[in-house]
Amino acid sequence: MTKIAIIGAGAVGTSLAVALQKHSSVTLLGRHTTSITYEEAQTSKKQDIKVHALSSESGQFDVIWIAVKTYQLSHVIPHLSRIAHPNTIVILAQNGYGQLDQLASYRAYQAVVYISGQKKDNHVVHFRDQTIHIQRDIHTEQLAETLSHTDLTLHLEENIEYKIWYKLLVNLGINTVTALGRDTARVLKHHEMHTLCRKLLIEGQHIAQAEGITFHSTLVDEIMAIYQGYPDEMGTSMYYDTINHQPLEVDAIQGYLYHRAQHYQIHTPYLETTYTLLTYQNKKQGC
Ligand code: NAP
Repeated sequence: MTKIAIIGAGAVGTSLAVALQKHSSVTLLGRHTTSITYEEAQTSKKQDIKVHALSSESGQFDVIWIAVKTYQLSHVIPHLSRIAHPNTIVILAQNGYGQLDQLASYRAYQAVVYISGQKKDNHVVHFRDQTIHIQRDIHTEQLAETLSHTDLTLHLEENIEYKIWYKLLVNLGINTVTALGRDTARVLKHHEMHTLCRKLLIEGQHIAQAEGITFHSTLVDEIMAIYQGYPDEMGTSMYYDTINHQPLEVDAIQGYLYHRAQHYQIHTPYLETTYTLLTYQNKKQGC
């Protein structure tokens, strides 16, 4: 029996635990032993999900999903050597990129997460999607087989880099303008913010290109069209984190892109300015 752990009893981690419920060995690990009320937004159906304290977990797992915010990862990593064995698969279910460098001694994968939810206190509401994309190889093919009877949709990609960069660019545009504009998706109705968002995406596409990720020429229009489909009142994670004075995942999204741009000596004035402002905002909040 493949033993599975999920670290991070938040929106993504708890939703993942529920999606994997049909697999009989799934342990959700959080800061403390507690229980989370999980609610399906579509049906209002609720269930209690048990959470075990990561710090006192001593069992070993074959698959470990990590679903904490990117800036929380460094506090989780010291626990891994205790609960992983040499063949354990570690899957980062996070936004952003670059975090895998911290997991060089593990068989680690960056997943692309399409699970939408929100956690408030001990209550998680799952809005939509239970889909994860991950690189295809012999280990993930085995994992997909193991999880095929669960409610998780696991897509194995021939080249995960495209999915990672696409999500990175989608996050770059809308997260930046909603966080700095301190407004929901309606911020794009403002002409100059709309232009800023577009320019960020153009810069992001140049960085992707330098990285060897060639998207089609209509990519920016396509992502702008996705944003246009967002309801005006829809916030992004970076918008909510800003207004709630929570840390931002700025290093793993804007910061990652900015440092890749620097590496390739690509001039990215919009990214540089917005990254600087977001970093300052993060620092001012004590993060
Ligand atoms: P979240 O709701 O804040 O959940 C993170 C959970 O990890 C929290 O319960 C947190 O506990 C816990 N945690 C943090 N440090 C820990 C530690 N050292 N030991 C044990 N537990 C720890 O965040 P999320 O929304 O699930 O996001 C997770 C990742 O998925 C992020 O990278 C996010 O960008 C990405 N993502 C989220 C969504 C979404 O709709 N929510 C969609 C796609 C991708 P505390 O609350 O006590 O800190």
